[in-house]
Amino acid sequence: MGLKVCKFGGSSVADFERIRAVASRIADMKYNGDDVVMVVSAMGDTTDDLLALSAQISPKNNKRELDFLMATGEQQSAAYMAMMLNSLDVPALSMTCFQAGIGCDGEYGRASLSFIDPARIQDEISKGKVVVVAGFQGIMPNGDVATLGRGGSDTSAIALAAALGADECLIFTDVDGVYTTDPRIVKTASKLEGITHEEMLELAALGAQVMNPRAVECALQNGVSFEVRNSHNREKGTLVTSADRLEGTRVISGISRDNNVAKIAIFDVPDEPGIAGKIFRAIASKGVVVDMVIQSAVRGKSNDIAFTVTRDQLERAVNVVNSLVDSLGASGMSYGKGVSKVSVVGAGVMNPGVAGDVFQTMADNGINIEMISTSEIKISMIIEASCAERAVAALHRQFRLENVH
Ligand code: ADP
Ligand code: ASP
Ligand code: MG
Repeated sequence: MGLKVCKFGGSSVADFERIRAVASRIADMKYNGDDVVMVVSAMGDTTDDLLALSAQISPKNNKRELDFLMATGEQQSAAYMAMMLNSLDVPALSMTCFQAGIGCDGEYGRASLSFIDPARIQDEISKGKVVVVAGFQGIMPNGDVATLGRGGSDTSAIALAAALGADECLIFTDVDGVYTTDPRIVKTASKLEGITHEEMLELAALGAQVMNPRAVECALQNGVSFEVRNSHNREKGTLVTSADRLEGTRVISGISRDNNVAKIAIFDVPDEPGIAGKIFRAIASKGVVVDMVIQSAVRGKSNDIAFTVTRDQLERAVNVVNSLVDSLGASGMSYGKGVSKVSVVGAGVMNPGVAGDVFQTMADNGINIEMISTSEIKISMIIEASCAERAVAALHRQFRLENVH
């Protein structure tokens, strides 16, 4: 018995049948004496559908209005969920960010949570109600509603669990837990019993869609352990927690793939101090976030510089680089979206031999590595997008990830 925060993603509330199944699961929790705060995503593909509809008006709609529109998706599913619970004789009420006291700031479309004042939620819990909170949204300092970036309901749930001091935080989705890689790509992927916040953060930041990286960051900062579970069955899921609460360590925990990558290269840049600073400061001044950077060895008095950005920021980055090519004395530039990032994540990636095995696996499969970056717990590579799924499967086999747990 205690307070549970339960988040249900889009596929878990896709239609009334799913909403009924979820509501009856929550009814069981209440029957067992638990208090429950739910966080729901928009039904099925509602967010995509709303974006597509609004694009018929203009492909470049005002971001404030887009957020106002997108927030309605979560509001709708929260209301339906509360109605379904009520129909099962479970007292429940829905709340938007305004009633739930969830504040955010930053840019529309990718705002960050700034505060949670859970007084109203606590009051309703004390009256025995299930509170159903619309995920993905927060109140901006000017009183507007803004959204937290795609997949942002995960962040709403973790932040609420922290603010409420919940006893348990459960993230319900459409797979049994966190796998060694996307089970849609590799059928033999293994479900992990547990994983550290740090490893989950890397997997998520490098493309594992199952958790939003900012949600994992929030969990890490606030010491919130959570379990990723399947809403379609009652199996145990994956516990995401601190290293001291998990038994043993694995060399490799998983492989991620990120298709939201684009590459820009600048040719024959003079080999002089200050050039890289000039390029990347100009790019940053336009709000573009650069991920990987590679500089080729000096040939004569020049070299090439290449870097990656997310696909949605490519146009902005290309405009900046185009305007700099002449003043830098470079001979030209190229860019493209045809690349993906494939990453191997685990506490032991820096063990002797692991990097060699990763690169050899690419070579054995005829896959060219265009860029590499490493940290203590990951090795990332930029490769041609059409090879990404093959690379993930080959690395999964190489590290025998079909047999881990
Ligand atoms: P929700 O709508 O519940 O938030 P998402 O679609 O955002 O669900 O995330 C779940 C999906 O994430 C799964 O269906 C799976 O295909 C994908 N996924 C990618 N990488 C992984 C992984 N390492 N483990 C589990 N699922 C993953
Ligand atoms: N509905 C939003 C999305 O599709 C938020 C979420 O599902 O977490 O991105
Ligand atoms: Mg999600």
